[in-house]
Amino acid sequence: MRKGSIEVKAGNIIIGGGNPVVVQSMTNTDTLDTQATVSQIIRMVGQGCQMVRVTAADIPQAENLYKIKNELVKRNIDVPLVADIHFNPKAAEISASVADKIRINPGNYVDRHWREGFTVQDYRDILQKAKENLSPLIDICKKHSTSIRIGVNHGSLSERILFKYGNTPLAMAESAMEFLRMFAEMDFNQIVVSMKASDVAVMYRANKLLVEKMEQERMYYPLHLGVTEAGNGEDGRIKSICGIAPLLLQGIGDTVRVSLTEKPENEMPIALQLAHIAEDKSSMTRKIGEIAYNLLENKITKEEIRSNYSDIPDFVIKDILQALGIERYKAEFVACPSCGRTKYDIESALEKVKKACSHLKGLKIAVMGCIVNVPGEMADADYGYIGAGNGTVNLYKGKELMMAHINESEAVDKLTELIKHDGKWS
Ligand code: SF4
Repeated sequence: MRKGSIEVKAGNIIIGGGNPVVVQSMTNTDTLDTQATVSQIIRMVGQGCQMVRVTAADIPQAENLYKIKNELVKRNIDVPLVADIHFNPKAAEISASVADKIRINPGNYVDRHWREGFTVQDYRDILQKAKENLSPLIDICKKHSTSIRIGVNHGSLSERILFKYGNTPLAMAESAMEFLRMFAEMDFNQIVVSMKASDVAVMYRANKLLVEKMEQERMYYPLHLGVTEAGNGEDGRIKSICGIAPLLLQGIGDTVRVSLTEKPENEMPIALQLAHIAEDKSSMTRKIGEIAYNLLENKITKEEIRSNYSDIPDFVIKDILQALGIERYKAEFVACPSCGRTKYDIESALEKVKKACSHLKGLKIAVMGCIVNVPGEMADADYGYIGAGNGTVNLYKGKELMMAHINESEAVDKLTELIKHDGKWS
């Protein structure tokens, strides 16, 4: 049984309300390159994508959504467009009049830095200010029937939330609740919520907590599920299944995005399997989801998996245990799916870094397309390999920038030198 949720419209698609789980993804072209973006959207739709998100990082990109939409209409492609907003409220307002849905991060709607000694009144003032900042956007959304996704990311929680709750799943759920209450006061309910983290267990618990908290306050907003920065290949797919499937198997979740560092159309086969997991009793995706659910809910030990699921290959079991952080047998790679802001060929960068470092059991290495959310979204990685533009890479150790603007051709060698220098090479 799916958990009850209200219906939220995004163009011709309805999310929630017991409707089938919607499969979505995001373009990784330059949003100003209309032809490349439209062509990618057409390929994604051809593979089963039902909703497409496009970066609208600034005003020119937001304005170009009109051209993209028009080109799609000319080609009879009626797919809902979602504008992905970073920090720019003006870009959000422009996008809200053309896109069917916009995604905002509540962490970006409060401009005051939190510090020790702030009072309850300071906290109320901050929320009031956020409400004032959001008010013009909500008016535009109401006028154009545009829905909103509140996208909470573990790596970019506001200072105020981190101060109160720490960097925890509870902090993520509270971050969303603050804004859901605010939107209720503004009489706006066309909202979908996401709780994303690259750590599967954090993502799972944040979603469960949010559902509990919403139920306590009689809120029934649909949920968008995804493990962010899951990486590529088998690792990225298994990690995504381990986070998304256990929630879907409990009736939680109304739309899914599998974030792979690959072409967005490659996400569709696995996303479609997840969307149909309830009916599909025998697929590998379903079995992986069941194992992950049993492990996340402590219903089974890792030793019991090997005896109870003898039909699952051992390498898959190892990958599930690694994805859930229970057992590590190789390096973990956190890699963003890339988007219109990506500064280099991240797919080949990830492959090169994996080839050089996969054997470093226990290390976590982040490969990111740009510095916009760095170091926050590097998920506490030990090292970061970040696209810095013009064929260069920045290297981080933890949250500290170690080398800036290294030529890409030397960057993997420099990364391995850094790891060797720290005595972590084996
Ligand atoms: S980190 Fe990756 S997904 Fe995030 S904004 Fe940069 S390129 Fe886009």
